[in-house]
Amino acid sequence: MATEKSAVFIIFGGSGDLAHRKLYPALYRLYQAGMLKDHFAVIGTARRPWSDEYFRETVITSLEDIDDNKEEMTAFAQHFFYQSHNVNDSEHYIALKELAAKLDDKFDAGHNRVYYMAIAPRFFGTVAEHIKSEGLKTEGGYNRLVIEKPFGRDLASATELNDSLSRVFPEDEVYRIDHYLGKKMIQEISKIRLNNPKFEEALNSKYVSNIQVTLGESLGVEDRGGYYETSGALRDMIQNHIMQIIGSIAMDKPEELSAEAVHKVKTDLFASLKVLQPEDVKTEFVRGQYDTDNLGDQKAYRDEDNVDENSNIETYVAGRIEFSDDRWNGTPFYVRSGKRMPAKSSRIDIVFNEKVADLGIKANTTVSLLIEPEDGHSILINGIDYLEANQDFIKFPEDKTYFDNAREAYESLIIDILAGDHVHFTLWDELQSTWKYIDAVREQWDAEEPDFPNYLSGTMGPEAADTLLEREGNSWVWDD
Ligand code: NAD
Repeated sequence: MATEKSAVFIIFGGSGDLAHRKLYPALYRLYQAGMLKDHFAVIGTARRPWSDEYFRETVITSLEDIDDNKEEMTAFAQHFFYQSHNVNDSEHYIALKELAAKLDDKFDAGHNRVYYMAIAPRFFGTVAEHIKSEGLKTEGGYNRLVIEKPFGRDLASATELNDSLSRVFPEDEVYRIDHYLGKKMIQEISKIRLNNPKFEEALNSKYVSNIQVTLGESLGVEDRGGYYETSGALRDMIQNHIMQIIGSIAMDKPEELSAEAVHKVKTDLFASLKVLQPEDVKTEFVRGQYDTDNLGDQKAYRDEDNVDENSNIETYVAGRIEFSDDRWNGTPFYVRSGKRMPAKSSRIDIVFNEKVADLGIKANTTVSLLIEPEDGHSILINGIDYLEANQDFIKFPEDKTYFDNAREAYESLIIDILAGDHVHFTLWDELQSTWKYIDAVREQWDAEEPDFPNYLSGTMGPEAADTLLEREGNSWVWDD
């Protein structure tokens, strides 16, 4: 049984989609595991005037897909309380503070507070300022702020947001969520590297031809057209998720697996991103927007709800990224993310060169780390399951079931928050470097009119994404 933790969670946006789809199920699993038991309370805040009883009903409904034990779900829901809240109303924060103190007494929660921003990003700063001015932070316990993406839309807005948050919460109290860092395969990369010394030895520009990171989705924007119009694939997927995945596989070997040591090497890696000159954006980055499919059955992006009929927002990005550090100088990192691709597939493909034979690894070997879909948590060597491939340079994990029953990303991240462990969260220093890189691409794109739509739904994206690799003798490993 896990060690029990104590805290009062204040979930801003407690009536919303993220809270119900991800947070409450994750908290429930921690309850089932005994990590949350008697000494916790959850206050959901949102605009609507809900009663505690109604809120609890919505929480129980959010658990129906994962359990049918009504008794346990009802007992869990007794820890939930609702506070109607408008982000700009100081009185509401005072009421919130009093409710949190009362529940802290009732459940003996150790004066610990987790402030969770499951609310639109434009409110993050306002809420944080009120937490300070109305004195919500406690003495004698911890205060931890959890922030969802997006963290800004460029370096300038991210800096402004960070300044407003840091006036209330120092960096060591801030937990910026990138849910890919909660996924099992990503969390295991450090251990896979540590436990396979030959693989680690080969992980540099001398032996690696190129590294590919793909986050492909088969769906379109669905009902999120309005949000997507303000974002696009570059901001929505590359700046955060893809960069963080690259960080996990390409960072230098940390001295130990502590948050401090890991973030040191990750920050150094991102600081060495070779920011593109305007004239290079065209050759190094490709953008696309989906059209209907070859039968005309699917909606083109421009026909989706809440999308401008002349929208120039990209639903697909492929790019060639380089780092200037000693480990990776000269190695291309090819990244891509797109909607309406043939399948959902999140993966890292490491393509070794011929020299790797000097280490006893077959020349031109490809190692693929499969992150999603769920049944694909695995490692492939030249397309064959790593255990069946019977190669000595990747033997860890030794058990095929190792990736089964992985914790859901949010469950795993909330465990880290309760433990005060920052290792799987993004730091401000890292974000500054990745935003700087992304801004250079975005600024150039914004200065030019794209020729959209330029790929059919259900395909691998625009042809130019293939040319990006072919011009230097490479090709995408995942190619439908
Ligand atoms: P949502 O629209 O479903 O919920 C927003 C919540 O904010 C609601 O509870 C609403 O009542 C509350 N709210 C709105 N205006 C308010 C105000 N003036 N005062 C007080 N409360 C107010 O949004 P969501 O999809 O749950 O997203 C929440 C956050 O999580 C956003 O920052 C989003 O970018 C991020 N996020 C969501 C997902 C997801 O899967 N839904 C994934 C990643 C990140």
